[in-house]
Order: sequence, then C-alpha cells, then structure tokens
Amino acid sequence: MLKIVHHPLYDAATVADTHRFPMRKYTLLPVELMKAGIAYPNSFYEPELASREQLVAAHCADYVDAVLTGGLDRQAQRKLGFEWTIDVANRARASSAGTLMAAKLALKHGVAANTAGGSHHASYDFGAGFCVFNDVAVAASNLLRENLVQRILIIDLDVHHGDGTARIFADEKRVFTFSMHCEDNWPREKPASSLDIGLPRGVGDLEYIENLRSALDRVFSKIEPDIVFYNAGVDPHEEDRLGLLNLSDEGLQERDRIVAERCFGHDYPLVGVLGGGYSKDPFEVVHRHVGMFRALRDVCV
Ligand SMILES: [Zn+2]
Repeated sequence: MLKIVHHPLYDAATVADTHRFPMRKYTLLPVELMKAGIAYPNSFYEPELASREQLVAAHCADYVDAVLTGGLDRQAQRKLGFEWTIDVANRARASSAGTLMAAKLALKHGVAANTAGGSHHASYDFGAGFCVFNDVAVAASNLLRENLVQRILIIDLDVHHGDGTARIFADEKRVFTFSMHCEDNWPREKPASSLDIGLPRGVGDLEYIENLRSALDRVFSKIEPDIVFYNAGVDPHEEDRLGLLNLSDEGLQERDRIVAERCFGHDYPLVGVLGGGYSKDPFEVVHRHVGMFRALRDVCV
C-alpha cells in the first residue's frame, strides 16, 4: 500500500477560492485518492510542522524568521503571490515537514508521496511564485544533515523551471538537480540545474516522452542516488491555465509511470510531491494529480 503524507493545513482556507493558486485542491485530493481506490484511511500519515532548525537547513535564518513571525515586507509578499497570514506560514511548514516525512517513509518502504510540496521557486532567502519554503530542498538538506543519505536526485517535471532548487543546491555536489520545463514559461531567469531540458512551447506527448526517456538515461548514467525526489507538477497539461505545453491525460500518466518504473527498476527510493497545476475547476486539477499517486501505487504492489 502506498504511504501518503497529508496535513489538513495544506489547505490554507484563508486564501480565497478566487485566488489563482488553487488552494482547495489540497482538501479534495485525499478524498479523490480514496474514491479511486489508491488510498485507504490507514494510508495517511500526518507530519508535525517543520521546526525553525529544519527550515534553516535550506533557507537563510532571516528569511525563515520573517515568514514565521509575519515580518515579510510588501514587496516580498508580492513576489510570493500570497499575503502573509499565519495559515500561509503554517501551511509552508506543514508542507516541508510532509515532504521530509514522505522521504523517510520512502527510505523505509521504497516509495511514498506527499499530497503537497514541489515549491521549487522558493530560494535560499526569498519566496516566489506561491512557494514559501522549498519543501524538497528542506527535506533533502535534512536527510543530508541527519546522515541518512549521501547522494540525492531531484527530478522536476513541473512545467516551470526549478529555479529555487537550482539556486539552493548550486554548490552542493551531493544533490543532482534535473529540471525539464517549457523554456518560454516563467521564470524568465533560469539558473543552471545539474541538467536542464528547456522544451519549446506546444510540445505534445510523443516529443515530451522521447525527451524524458533520453534525459533519464543521461541522469542515471551520472548518478546512483540514495533517494529520488519527483516533482510531478501537472501544469504541462494541454488545458492548464499557466503551462504552455500540450500533454494529454494519457501523456501525463505515461510520464509518471516512466519515472516510477525507472526508479523502481534501479531500486532507488522514490518520493513524489505534487507540484503545480492550474485550472478554474479544482476537480480537474485534482484528477490530473491522482495520476502520480496511481503510478507510485502501481510500483508498490
Ligand atoms: Zn509549475
């Protein structure tokens, strides 16, 4: 059975339904996972909130303190895309702790997932693009700090470049960052990951899957990771509001299946995180996110 980490605080209810960030998907997702027969009531694990000490493993202490105490100025909040509330801060703490917990479950059981996370635009000392803390960077840094792993691979297939993750790990040789994204998408500035594949706008299933397969061949020839983090953002979907790629439902499912099977085939522990996905109808996005859990569940059984 797939181990799934979830926290009710992932849905910061103080963010309105009209906000471009589809906050409600975090409440709907576990329900849909149960309906789909992928999760059961005892599949779920609930994390504590991440501590200051855990957060400063990946972020600057001044920035962490500003988030925890409501000290972000107007410009920082604009860059973030959220007005600061205690719910926004606690949500980011829960999400980071959730990815760390899922990573530890993956080390023990082979595969696990978080129903949030993938906040890859958050950098060392600032948040951006709806990303407060970089949960994958927090989890990876704490695994290294606790000496639980030596080599980490981050596969980021969200349609947006993993700029925050690339910046945080630019000088960290033990972490290999791979981002495949649409080159024309925000952010304009794309600091170098260990491997970047920037696809032109409009790429569909066939070309995408071909690029993914050859990129994974390159990645796995360079690193034998002790754990793999997978950002399975569904915003490469053809109907996504913010993405510029053209993947169908089947294309996204195939993408997730390839990542899960490649990691399983190598015996690399795999932790899936949600990433982006934008639609006016939160159910549409949730149904796309279910695919990653299905792919991970399928290599569990
Ligand atoms: Zn995205």
